[in-house]
Amino acid sequence: MEKSYRAELVGVFGDPIDENPTGVVEEAAFAALGLNYRYITVRVQRGELAAAVQGLRAFHMRGINLTIPHKVEVLQYLDSLSEAAQLCGAVNVVVNEDGQLWGDNTDGKGYLKSLVDAGVDPAGKHVTLLGAGGAARAIGVELALAGASKITVVNRDRARGEELVQLLNDKTQAEAVYLPWDGAAAVPEDTDILSNATSVGLYPHVEQKPDLQYDTIRPHMVVTDVIFNDPNSRFLQEAAQRGAKTINGLGMLANQAALNFRLWTGREAPVSLMEEVLRREFHLAE
Ligand code: NDP
Repeated sequence: MEKSYRAELVGVFGDPIDENPTGVVEEAAFAALGLNYRYITVRVQRGELAAAVQGLRAFHMRGINLTIPHKVEVLQYLDSLSEAAQLCGAVNVVVNEDGQLWGDNTDGKGYLKSLVDAGVDPAGKHVTLLGAGGAARAIGVELALAGASKITVVNRDRARGEELVQLLNDKTQAEAVYLPWDGAAAVPEDTDILSNATSVGLYPHVEQKPDLQYDTIRPHMVVTDVIFNDPNSRFLQEAAQRGAKTINGLGMLANQAALNFRLWTGREAPVSLMEEVLRREFHLAE
């Protein structure tokens, strides 16, 4: 093939965006495979998304990631959606196929891959899911599609929690129930997987952990956290002290970036390299 100086463009639209590390991770993966792709990290404020998507089309960009506050609004500008994106009503990655924009949600798939990589199969399992925001919705939908039999949603805001429960009951095979969260919550005894999908713990220096009766965590449980910038969060420490197997959010983030890489390039992503780059970005030890 003749040499081309034209790079394929991908990136992320969001606000705030300055601390989003995905560009460094994707660029390292492109370089490792010798692909002429560029990942641009773009501040797109609320109200500017329609213009940004037009720009994406005009620049013939190969695709884009969406983050806060655009994951829901972007749906109206797309031509088609994956099943997961349709179900959870949120898109974090878009692929441009000759002007046709297709949206998917790889947050939940990245989470699921991190479970499978740790030897955990959610099929037939009872999952207790803390949170009902964007990450929780994506995780809940993907766990249900992977065959989880029961999902207990624990969320402070009742309306948000019940909305997720209804979505799961209406659209998937899983049985979903809502558990109110006012004061320290007890983890149901027959829980197999306890998943923190709240933003509690995102600021490690504040030393926060979800408000739970930690003695209700049993050794047979697998306990997972979406928090990626503290691989040993207070929540996971408490769980490990009770003998539970723990999985942090770094794998979810790396796997999600790897899935996006594959959607754009059609090539397998160098996942361990991507995880290593993330660790470096967050100044984490191996
Ligand atoms: P949202 O703002 O959509 O949802 C936040 C959720 O956290 C809500 O359910 C909210 O409950 C709950 N919450 C916040 N504070 C508390 C508290 N003090 N006690 C109990 N519940 C609380 O955020 P997202 O769902 O988009 O993101 C959640 C987290 O997931 C973030 O930390 C984000 O960084 C992380 N994430 C990680 C990814 C990864 O790859 N590892 C990918 C995507 C996200 P309520 O409804 O009651 O307000």
